[in-house]
Amino acid sequence: MQVQFIGCGDALGSGGRANTCFHVTGEQSNFLIDCGASSLPAMKRLGVALEPIDLILITHFHGDHFGGLPFFLLDAQFSRRSRPLTIAGPAGIETRLRQAMEVMFEHSSKTQQRFQLSVTALAPEEAKTFGAVTVTPYPVVHGESGGPFLAYRIEAEGRVIAYSADTEWTETLVPTARGADLFIAEAYYYDKIVKNHLSLTTLEAHLGEIGAKKLILTHMSDDMLARLDSLPHLAANDGMTVEL
Ligand SMILES: [Zn+2]
Ligand SMILES: [Zn+2]
Repeated sequence: MQVQFIGCGDALGSGGRANTCFHVTGEQSNFLIDCGASSLPAMKRLGVALEPIDLILITHFHGDHFGGLPFFLLDAQFSRRSRPLTIAGPAGIETRLRQAMEVMFEHSSKTQQRFQLSVTALAPEEAKTFGAVTVTPYPVVHGESGGPFLAYRIEAEGRVIAYSADTEWTETLVPTARGADLFIAEAYYYDKIVKNHLSLTTLEAHLGEIGAKKLILTHMSDDMLARLDSLPHLAANDGMTVEL
């Protein structure tokens, strides 16, 4: 199984990085984790085939994680996609997606798609299976607007990928990522403690109990990007691929 970081940036374009979007592919699975506003051009730049993607998991409704969906759907319509597509995310996703589409491309939410589109709400700690992919969401802590906020523990092809989403430290990150083959974790600041986001030193204090086999840092601010050369962890960059 392969994970490609289409975008690993924050909402502010720090480091010129694209918004959050991870592409996971294997023998039986082909899905995205988050689809931030810049994801469609980022995927096209990397030559990602879009038609085979049959699932998009959304962690929350901030534009840098969710804002690429109207573009993805518009492209799917114009490129005559025929393969069914499932979009799954927190409660309210059907309404939020419709609103985002109407704001960006008026009337687009009423377009009769050529392909079958399913939009599914996920509930915290209720595992759901989509084909070869089983997703268990955990609630995380990321402020007052743009939620609910979900971290994901994803099982596919005998591997476990965990993603913290955007969050301050919360104990649910332990079951999210415990023993995972890959834990993709936000590390917004190095040691500055802020509300709603995770700093690396806070994360480091919990890595022992999490016990993930591989850690990759993402969603880094300029503060973290300036320290990339001296970090004792693997950090994502746009286009990077990891084999699991
Ligand atoms: Zn974000
Ligand atoms: Zn966010």
